[in-house]
Amino acid sequence: MPATSGAIPVLEDLGDVAGRRVLVRTDFNVPMDDGPGGRRITDDFRIRAALPTIEWLTTRGASVVCASHLGRPKGEPVPKYSMEPVRARLAELAPGVELLENLRFDPGEESCDPAFVDRLVAGADAYVDDAFGAAHRAHASIVGPPRTLPSAMGRLLQREVEVLLGLRESPKHPFVAVLGGSKISDKLGVVEALLGVVDALVVGGAMCFTFLAAQGNPIGDSLFEPDQVETCRRLLERAAAGGTAIHLPEDVNGVDARGGYATFGTRLPDGAKGFDIGPGTAAAFSDVVMDARTVFWNGPMGMFEDPRFAAGTRTLAEAVAATKAFTVVGGGDSAAALAQFGLADDVDHVSTGGGASLELLELGDLPGLEALRKAPNARG
Ligand code: ADP
Ligand code: MG
Repeated sequence: MPATSGAIPVLEDLGDVAGRRVLVRTDFNVPMDDGPGGRRITDDFRIRAALPTIEWLTTRGASVVCASHLGRPKGEPVPKYSMEPVRARLAELAPGVELLENLRFDPGEESCDPAFVDRLVAGADAYVDDAFGAAHRAHASIVGPPRTLPSAMGRLLQREVEVLLGLRESPKHPFVAVLGGSKISDKLGVVEALLGVVDALVVGGAMCFTFLAAQGNPIGDSLFEPDQVETCRRLLERAAAGGTAIHLPEDVNGVDARGGYATFGTRLPDGAKGFDIGPGTAAAFSDVVMDARTVFWNGPMGMFEDPRFAAGTRTLAEAVAATKAFTVVGGGDSAAALAQFGLADDVDHVSTGGGASLELLELGDLPGLEALRKAPNARG
């Protein structure tokens, strides 16, 4: 087992922080839109999520400097991605805390340039990583500071690591993983890793069509990745041989060749497109979730942004909210769907990282965690 959370320093391992300047890598990559007065934050969840760590430090007399990326400005200043609106909100929530300009305004962030790391750590006495959503990237602000500064994971990162490594290492059975969404090639690695730990895998979303195609079903014009069919076929065989159930849709909602709303079985007619799991499938998937003792859910069951195709995701979300199992939801769109249905408070853990949560489940480690484990103050 490559990673154990125990070897990674936590806030207490920083020692006395009074009077020290602490650089905190946060994930303030918040959703924004263009309001009448300029860019504005549409959801400040990620800023509020960093407050326990920030307050732990400030109440002990540390001065805190936060640093984050926002959007994808590709190494140069882009006004749209200025941290200014975040800085204003942070000043309301945590007065006196500094915030650096968008880390990705400098090409050195993503290329992990040592000179950029030097500028980041200049004047800082310690480093805290609380940016779970970015911990799977070997960027300057993630892996650089722990090379020289006493370092720790913040409370948010600590909780993510405990929950997700807990799922990987000692889940209560039956353990059911529900996967959907659109990024199939990104997610097949985690399917492979999960086959060794889960009792059942439930597949919906656009992902299911590549699996249905691998079983020989015609899938019309539904979204699918032809170069992944072979991998899906192999995963189905591996699952069958290892006694893991893979649940695929038995019916599908979508549009027919003329664009009309329709429900199909698993064999889609020419020109049809599947955009959601059907009602029979939603009920069957919910039963699997209700009988589980651990549930990990990543990826919506359909194109839930369109109300015609939200029913499958809503039914699944209701089951995840209602089951007695320990429930973990990862992924930006999955978390957004939960919030849209008003169910976010009914799951045990909503991960702040999509890619990071999948990678931690798949590999049991992340570049950001590895860096913290090698920090000068880390034990052993
Ligand atoms: P997450 O952010 O939770 O990890 P993804 O980013 O992988 O999830 O996928 C979310 C997207 O997948 C949503 O925008 C949704 O509309 C889309 N999606 C889900 N099912 C389908 C489908 N059958 N056809 C097209 N898009 C789909
Ligand atoms: Mg997404």
